[in-house]
Amino acid sequence: MVSQSASAPNCSPISELDIPAVFVISGPSGAGKGTVIALVKRRLPHVVTSVSATTRAARPGEEEGREYFYMTRAAFARGAVAGDFLEWVEYSGDLYGTLRAEVDGKLATGDDVILEIELVGARAVRKALPEATAVFIAPPDMAELRHRLRGRGTESDEAIARRLRIAQTEVAAAGEFDYVVVNEDAERAAAEVVAIIQERRKGI
Ligand code: 5GP
Repeated sequence: MVSQSASAPNCSPISELDIPAVFVISGPSGAGKGTVIALVKRRLPHVVTSVSATTRAARPGEEEGREYFYMTRAAFARGAVAGDFLEWVEYSGDLYGTLRAEVDGKLATGDDVILEIELVGARAVRKALPEATAVFIAPPDMAELRHRLRGRGTESDEAIARRLRIAQTEVAAAGEFDYVVVNEDAERAAAEVVAIIQERRKGI
């Protein structure tokens, strides 16, 4: 006689189901979120990033659909009215928004999805998706942040000053996040984020 047991394939405990998760990764501009996330994705192929929409101009080397979907303010506004965004904000004079279809589409393929977004958007996503894990990437200190923003050479002095002012508010809110990772060394910071993602996967 064949007996049914808890180890039968159709009786997996819920903790073993492969349910994809959402990770919100936030932190000031220049903290190195992009570099850390790129290293994480190299180590964890099931992790992808949600590509946001923005009205800011593409920087040299950026590509439509890879870093962002670049939109006019009018197209962005139409999307906002139509409910296309999970959240959207005005940041440093430009609009940025997380596209619902982008996140849902990537989750549907079974991948874990990272949203790389600023503080106000991170708060909104945590309200909308309380099961999301929120990670704050912090710079070692403000002097290093200024140095990194200047070294990037992509923003005007005025834009850098604006981003540094916003950074102060963002760093003050780090305590709201589930985890804070100080990015002194990108490889080490990425290893910490990898551990956070793996831990979350175990806990689902
Ligand atoms: P950047 O212009 O440097 O690419 O991005 C500026 C800031 O906007 C960064 O902190 C970045 O994480 C954030 N950001 C990018 N996409 C989104 C988004 O869809 N929503 C929100 N709230 N912030 C975003």
